[in-house]
Amino acid sequence: MPKAAKPSSKKSDAAAMRYCSQPVQHPRQFDPSVDALRARAIISGSKKWVNGTQLTYYCYKAGDAVPVAWRGSPTDIREVGVAFDTWFKLGIGISFKEASRPEDATLRIGFDPQDGSWSYVGRDNLGIRDPLARTMNFGWALDTAYGKDTALHEIGHAIGLEHEHQNPYAGITWDREAVKTYFKGPPNNWDLQQIEWNILRKIPPSEVKGTVWDPNSVMEYAFSPGLIIEPAAYRNGLRPKGGLSKADAAWIVESYPCAKPKVVVPTLEVGLSQKLAIKAGQTRVFNFTPKRTRTYRMGTFGNSDTVMVLFETTSSGNVEIAGNDDSGTDLNARIDMRLINGRRYQIGIRLYYAEVAADTAIMVW
Ligand SMILES: [Zn+2]
Repeated sequence: MPKAAKPSSKKSDAAAMRYCSQPVQHPRQFDPSVDALRARAIISGSKKWVNGTQLTYYCYKAGDAVPVAWRGSPTDIREVGVAFDTWFKLGIGISFKEASRPEDATLRIGFDPQDGSWSYVGRDNLGIRDPLARTMNFGWALDTAYGKDTALHEIGHAIGLEHEHQNPYAGITWDREAVKTYFKGPPNNWDLQQIEWNILRKIPPSEVKGTVWDPNSVMEYAFSPGLIIEPAAYRNGLRPKGGLSKADAAWIVESYPCAKPKVVVPTLEVGLSQKLAIKAGQTRVFNFTPKRTRTYRMGTFGNSDTVMVLFETTSSGNVEIAGNDDSGTDLNARIDMRLINGRRYQIGIRLYYAEVAADTAIMVW
């Protein structure tokens, strides 16, 4: 256990450490008719992407019309690519592609050292549309062991993961005053709202990746001695192993299952409904190839909450051209779109919640 044998170096590492500080978000409010079980199911699914999604990203660089401080070095931009690849190589049903222009990217990444490291979570990224607005920032060099973990961590947020030390199952009791003193000071210099949002707040059970705390998650911070009171084992500090943990890998594979090579993606025919045949929390993709060019309507049937996304399948991957989220309403997901004969499309669905799971179907007409 060489790491445990050097407590003094652990302490000095952590003392100089800067941490990810997430943008504060307002919790979603539901109509009173949405019961707690249904609301929980929607919250737990709604930040995740639909399978089949190709997430495009762009790293601001020299020549872009953004503040100079946002522009990344070739080294840091390369590390971002490595981190996307590391997540992708776990074998998942979503993919990542570097866009050549910020306006083509869903995730837009800056490198401003004054702004710390942060990212919006999962589909919350869709709310930031301005091509000159960041959805993620890196505040320190990425070509160190800590920097590489930071790149994995922020991409973890972008694909739907929250902070692991805020997992209510961690059962962490903080020395609140010590935490405030530590994070108010340099090099983090956070205000009380940032400290509450990123450390002290417990994330609802519906938003965390499992029912067991994973202290080695890449989404877990390292903590100096004296910040955690319980569990007592971490009073002398917490230091995750580094890299993706087994539970990180298991979570992403379960959230975005990879298509099995021999399983054919089902094809939708006009006017014929197909059962979704998935459980709440799961995601599925269908092919659709229009036989003629016209406006098609696609939709779900049944008392369910879903997000439906329409992709055009191109030689460089899936491009999202429309999406509709019906969660928390009495409506069903619907998309109207003019589709072109000779082009290929996919429709991805994530089912958040269904009163009778077997009853939800999808149709194009
Ligand atoms: Zn974070």
